Amino acid sequence: MKFGGTSVGSAQRMKNVAKIVLDGQPNLVVLSAMSGTTNSLVEISDYLSRKNRDGAREVIGKLYDKYVREVEDLYSGEEFKTAGMDLIREHFDYIRSFTNDVFTAYEEKVVLSQGELISTGMFNLYLKEQGIDSVLLPALDFMKTDENGEPDQVFIKENIGRILEANQGHQIYITQGFICRNAFGDVDNLQRGGSDYTASLVGAAIGAEEIQIWTDIDGMHNNDPRFVEGTSPVSDLSFDEAAELAYFGAKILHPTCVLPAKSNNIPVRLLNTMEPEARGTMISSVQYRNRIAAVAAKDNITAIRIHSSRMLLAYGFLRKVFEIFETYKTSIDMISTSEVGVSVTVDNTRHLDAIVDDLKKYGMVEVDRGMTIISIVGDLEPYSHGYAGKIFQALSSVPVSMISYGGSSHNVSILVRGEDKVTALRALSAGLF
Ligand code: ADP
Ligand code: ASP
Ligand code: MG
Repeated sequence: MKFGGTSVGSAQRMKNVAKIVLDGQPNLVVLSAMSGTTNSLVEISDYLSRKNRDGAREVIGKLYDKYVREVEDLYSGEEFKTAGMDLIREHFDYIRSFTNDVFTAYEEKVVLSQGELISTGMFNLYLKEQGIDSVLLPALDFMKTDENGEPDQVFIKENIGRILEANQGHQIYITQGFICRNAFGDVDNLQRGGSDYTASLVGAAIGAEEIQIWTDIDGMHNNDPRFVEGTSPVSDLSFDEAAELAYFGAKILHPTCVLPAKSNNIPVRLLNTMEPEARGTMISSVQYRNRIAAVAAKDNITAIRIHSSRMLLAYGFLRKVFEIFETYKTSIDMISTSEVGVSVTVDNTRHLDAIVDDLKKYGMVEVDRGMTIISIVGDLEPYSHGYAGKIFQALSSVPVSMISYGGSSHNVSILVRGEDKVTALRALSAGLF
């Protein structure tokens, strides 16, 4: 059971989480940092990278004050209030120690890890005060990434297995989301929003019956509720649909978190901490037929267009183009081709200049930044018909610069300018749902 930042965002919320996890069977609980904490830790790190120690100290001070209040509210007895204060003092002394020394990417990762270490420590103490037999399993002892920054699933499985074996018979097991060690053994993380990924990796590693992602909304909605009114939860999604939605911008799920669940065929449920009785969304291997399930949007996309008359009737052209992206370890999201050109989109622009330079060997190159991919996800098998018509009818007033259809049987992707995103999302809700 994974609880996100808002779900553990205050003492009261943590108390609600305790009620949810105590459902009569042993549960492994993955917690995020309390909401806003990771952002504050990023801010502190930014100040320290710029050698602005006063800026960092001010943010640290505010964050510390928040935790003092939460500790006061969370525990009822003096013994646990003192233990809670000792816990946060220890972590904040550690964070403050970084204001006196050199600050590199290594120290930044250590600072970012404090949020999850504090929230899990606080929650574990709270359960103990309630007389619950809980145990804290340090994620840094078993969550590990390899040389490519990918989770080392063999290591995770072996080590969490060993740790659980040594800690049998408890009611609640608690661990940190997001944080891990990298191939060098240093503290690292699974990227922002990565606690979902921890939950699915751990769920897969222990062969969980179900992976539950508890958040602040009643499941995956059929459109982005931050931009569109009147969205509604989708009761069921297939693994593939959920993976596409997560990858293409549905913030409720970390982009890669569906894959470990899918590989191990473990259902994932998205549930609402504020409304625990709501059905939420069930993600499983069942594919629902004849429907568009949901729409999502991914921002900060760059489109690259290569025009070349040399492509006409030539073979091997696409290979040369793709090799350039491979050289720079840049993955392509959308592709669209014609006889004299190919357009692709990327979201990682770290090597964009070098890529564009190399592509110029093969043709004219144009770059459009600030684009958004809108993905329409559902059952789009060849037998289903009418959906393409409905999608384009809905988007008739939005300028579309690329279309990708048929790449998978459950996704149509459309590229629009960033400023047209909200119009496009609303038009799709009106036209499709
Ligand atoms: P947590 O802190 O629990 O991980 P997140 O903020 O990462 O929560 O994800 C939940 C948020 O995702 C929701 O509050 C909602 O604003 C946003 N969101 C974006 N797209 C969707 C969608 N399609 N369905 C549900 N929520 C979505
Ligand atoms: N606390 C981390 C973040 O804010 C991880 C997570 O919440 O999923 O990104
Ligand atoms: Mg999240």
